[in-house]
Amino acid sequence: MIREREKDRQNLLRRIPAVGVLVQEPGIRGLTEDYPQAVVVEVIGEVLGNLRKRIIEDGEFEPDLSSGGLLELVKAALGKRMQPKLRRVINATGVVLHTNLGRAILGRQAVEAINQVAGSFSNLELDLETGKRGSRYQHVEEILCRLTGAEAAMVVNNNAAAVLLTLSTLAKGKEVIVSRGELVEIGGSFRIPEVMAQSGARLVEVGATNKTHLRDYVNAITEETALLLKVHTSNYRIIGFTQSIEEGELVALGREKGLPVFHDLGSGVLVDFRNYGLRPEPRVQDSITAGVDLVSFSGDKLLGGPQAGVIVGKAQYIQQIRKNPLTRALRVDKFTLAALEATLQLYLDEKKAMEEIPTLRMLSYPLEELAKRAAALAEGIAAVAGDKLRATVQDGVSQVGGGALPEEDIPTKVVAITIEGSLPGLEDFLRGRPAPILARIQKEQLLLDLRTILPGEEEEIVAALGEYDSNN
Ligand SMILES: *Cc1c(COP(=O)(O)O)cnc(C)c1O
Repeated sequence: MIREREKDRQNLLRRIPAVGVLVQEPGIRGLTEDYPQAVVVEVIGEVLGNLRKRIIEDGEFEPDLSSGGLLELVKAALGKRMQPKLRRVINATGVVLHTNLGRAILGRQAVEAINQVAGSFSNLELDLETGKRGSRYQHVEEILCRLTGAEAAMVVNNNAAAVLLTLSTLAKGKEVIVSRGELVEIGGSFRIPEVMAQSGARLVEVGATNKTHLRDYVNAITEETALLLKVHTSNYRIIGFTQSIEEGELVALGREKGLPVFHDLGSGVLVDFRNYGLRPEPRVQDSITAGVDLVSFSGDKLLGGPQAGVIVGKAQYIQQIRKNPLTRALRVDKFTLAALEATLQLYLDEKKAMEEIPTLRMLSYPLEELAKRAAALAEGIAAVAGDKLRATVQDGVSQVGGGALPEEDIPTKVVAITIEGSLPGLEDFLRGRPAPILARIQKEQLLLDLRTILPGEEEEIVAALGEYDSNN
């Protein structure tokens, strides 16, 4: 019996063709039109090696060794090898601004704008009226000023760069006063004290962690002071016995002492969140109205645009910043400018911004809509999954993420999945799909939050769960 089996295995092994032979098969030869020859040969070697290994290790394994069967295996392995490393994923986590998932996604207008300038030449640094050299910043300056009320604006690579550049321009070799309660770390890599050190400015901390008074700032001002800095503590909140200085008070102090005031707002919010049932976040235009000299914010947080760092404020300071040689190193590219302009255009009509900017649309998505979509998704899953898993609609909470509105739990609807087998196994399976599906595990359930699942992605989720086999 055992001898028979041994012979079977030997037979199977003998039927595996040599790499050099398989490469010459017409079907496989055709693959070299789509894929580099060297990679095809490498992948064939891998596929055949894996087959050999499985035949030896698994006495039950009966592979299809026909040329058609081998072609399918090679094709699948090649597809996997050549798929981009950076690719689209389905965000079912309910975290709207997920830094690991690329933060804000762009609306169709912004994507179209990138398309327009990507494969064609553009007037990036050409003034079309005069035919002379222009500035890349001019394309978005007017609209940024219009939306925020600022005199001037410019854009760099991200908000960390905006803060670095502003500090370096206005306070290099001098002192910057900031409240101890605002020395934030964002995303593990941006820390105010470290950015300050890099800029060449000296940090002067005032107040205590929970309380800072105006007199703390007053007492810290010396001949060496160049700037008063306020940082929006966007990703945490100190609660209880607290006090911080209102923007207006700091502006008045700055005026009195002849010192500019710079507010790092973090998220760039232009709409009043209270109108949409959310906790209010400070708006850029309110800082400008309060008289703050410079305000900086991210493009890809609550603004819902591309990664960028926007600086708006007084023209005299923006002009100085533009002349800083660091600006060249931190400069923004044309795709970002195109997407940012298109996103900002939408803000000219707030209703349109709420509908068309994905970040804002997701945050204000009506619960009834989410409930409807969740019911349809659960039904779709039940239809393909048989009894291998159970899907029910439940109440859940979504999060803003991206270091914004830390306490804000937004009620949502989720599809909760339970299975007989291993839940982490299911999670890995979903993450391993060509379009990976990212979900959350909570209390022995895998949760799919409809808030961040884009309309149309439900079908892919249903298809994936239909293919899931807990035995594999
Ligand atoms: C997010 C954030 C930053 C960093 O912005 P990036 O665009 O990620 O570089 C800086 N300051 C504050 C207050 C932030 O919230």
